[in-house]
Amino acid sequence: GAAASRSADHSSKYSFEGIGGQDRAKNELIEALDFLIKPEQIAKFGIRPIKGILLTGPPGTGKTLMAKAAANYSDAVFIGVSGSEFVEMYVGVGAGRIRSLFKEARQSAQKQKKSNAIIFIDEIDAIGGKREGGQQREYDQTLNQLLTEMDGLYEQESPRILIMAATNRKEMLDPALLRPGRFDRHIQVDMPDKKGRKQILELHAANKPLAEDVDMDKVAEETFNFSGAQLESVLNEAAIYAMREQREWIEARHLSYAIDKVMMGEKTDRETNE
Ligand code: ATP
Repeated sequence: GAAASRSADHSSKYSFEGIGGQDRAKNELIEALDFLIKPEQIAKFGIRPIKGILLTGPPGTGKTLMAKAAANYSDAVFIGVSGSEFVEMYVGVGAGRIRSLFKEARQSAQKQKKSNAIIFIDEIDAIGGKREGGQQREYDQTLNQLLTEMDGLYEQESPRILIMAATNRKEMLDPALLRPGRFDRHIQVDMPDKKGRKQILELHAANKPLAEDVDMDKVAEETFNFSGAQLESVLNEAAIYAMREQREWIEARHLSYAIDKVMMGEKTDRETNE
């Protein structure tokens, strides 16, 4: 379907080299993907194949990028969906959507002659939150369908399907999702440290004209506790300032304004949410 081809475009564009910092998370993910790519080896050691990988960590740290890079790395078709799409669906619709996700993954892998498929569910807490008294039934059905699909995956199957999911609220997830054979691999994607921030800034500055007075080390220093998404915004805002002033280059002061703006923006967002 449309979603499959849209996602397939993405999977060829994203790679682990395009993700700044996150060395530990990247290495853990690559190790898990090698299990997917080299099934003979894991069979030899009698290792249970991985069905589900859960990426946890704060918003904007690159979890979606990781999932897309994973598809690229393992030459898999990428099918992405957000848990938030399932909220307020009528009874049964969510479960049907889960079923068609898996069908879509199999069909588009077959069509593109790929032996792997990755289904990525962002904000999985929206479908797989803890089931407490008074929950809606459609909600249960969606989660149950996901569990059923996962339990029904076989290692000999072609294409092999890997489910990746992301959440920034791991403690909210229904324990049923975390059982062995389901999402039993957890990879923490943290806020970037200074070195990571510098890498992310440099990645997003690659297509921008920077003046000589820009010191990325200093920018990385001044963006303490910024996520990758915020760092991307800093560069984008700085470019807008420079363009507005009709300068040739993005100067250090444009970056300073941009840092302030992104920091302020975050504050007002938080205040309005409260
Ligand atoms: P959310 O939980 O809000 O969905 P996320 O963790 O999935 O966030 P992404 O959607 O992957 O985050 O990141 C958003 C954008 O921020 C990316 O498209 C990219 O531009 C930038 N970004 C985030 N992290 C990184 C990173 N480590 N390296 C390079 N760019 C990054």
